[in-house]
Amino acid sequence: MSIDPPLDPIVNRAGNKPPRKSAKLLDAHVHIVGNGAGGTGCWMRTGLLRRPMQSLMCKHIGLPLSALSGDFDRLYVERLLELVRTSSLDGAVILAHEQVYDGHGNLMEGAGSFHVPNSYVLELAGRYPDFLPAVSIHPARADALEELERCLSAGAVMLKLLPNCHNVDANDRRYTRFWERMAEAGLPLLAHTGGEHSVQVMNASYADPRVLELPLQCGVKVIAAHCATKSGLFDPDYLSVLIEMMNRHPNLYADNSAFNIPIRSRAIPTCLKSPVVDRLVHGSDFPVPIYGHWAWMRGLIDYSTLKRLQHEPNVLERDYQLKLAMGFPWPVFTRVCELLRPLPQVVP
Ligand SMILES: [Zn+2]
Repeated sequence: MSIDPPLDPIVNRAGNKPPRKSAKLLDAHVHIVGNGAGGTGCWMRTGLLRRPMQSLMCKHIGLPLSALSGDFDRLYVERLLELVRTSSLDGAVILAHEQVYDGHGNLMEGAGSFHVPNSYVLELAGRYPDFLPAVSIHPARADALEELERCLSAGAVMLKLLPNCHNVDANDRRYTRFWERMAEAGLPLLAHTGGEHSVQVMNASYADPRVLELPLQCGVKVIAAHCATKSGLFDPDYLSVLIEMMNRHPNLYADNSAFNIPIRSRAIPTCLKSPVVDRLVHGSDFPVPIYGHWAWMRGLIDYSTLKRLQHEPNVLERDYQLKLAMGFPWPVFTRVCELLRPLPQVVP
């Protein structure tokens, strides 16, 4: 893998220089999913309603549909590894996915769409240097601080939560110690913001980035996934709220994950400008589908670029190249290196 620009480089509208040799080109938003085959501890809900979306994602990343009911966990990781290694990326931050708890720390049986245990992503990152582990812990859990310490000693570089899907009111004062410990350890929080339609939503009001005020005040570096934009047509759009918060919190960042889907792509012109672009981090939201048509329809790329990149079979590379072509400047692709918890043995 190389951080050199591709052999046939796209003309970058922003006229930026390639990243320094020392900078790592990372995709900071890559999901791990699994059905538990091989004892990974993962689970995902299946069923008639979920099947079409799961089939689409499988096909999109180049896995046969039969994988879903077979040795899916191993096949998924092998495919992801192959995609990272044959792309321009130097690595990917892989995300664990917590179960759903109520505010008293009781597991909500039957809630949630999928689960990926921390131990599994930590183990994968230990096995493959291409992966950096992001763990996921509901701060209401009775053992939340213990689990945080365990994950810190095991090399976690980031913590991921979807407040609206995991049912986390991050402003709850009872979580102050949890956020303070994260800030002290330099562990950033990647928090989903804005609408969500692929994972079960428990509390839609927690899609508002204002739910993240307390961790920000505690000094946690927070990355608002998807720039708080709307995913569905009728979702509220919180991009202006995010911008107002960025002006107040120098430790608030955002990512451009899932920007190559219909509704979110509407926000791209605003995200290419200050202050958002100066705090932006690259992420694909793999395995969420990546199509260039929306960017083309909005005039962000020309037709020949669309045609060329839609033929790019590596979806991680396609997402990166599309964003480069839209004019996201180089620092966006390497910025997360400054935010991840520094681990010399993982990020040399
Ligand atoms: Zn995601």
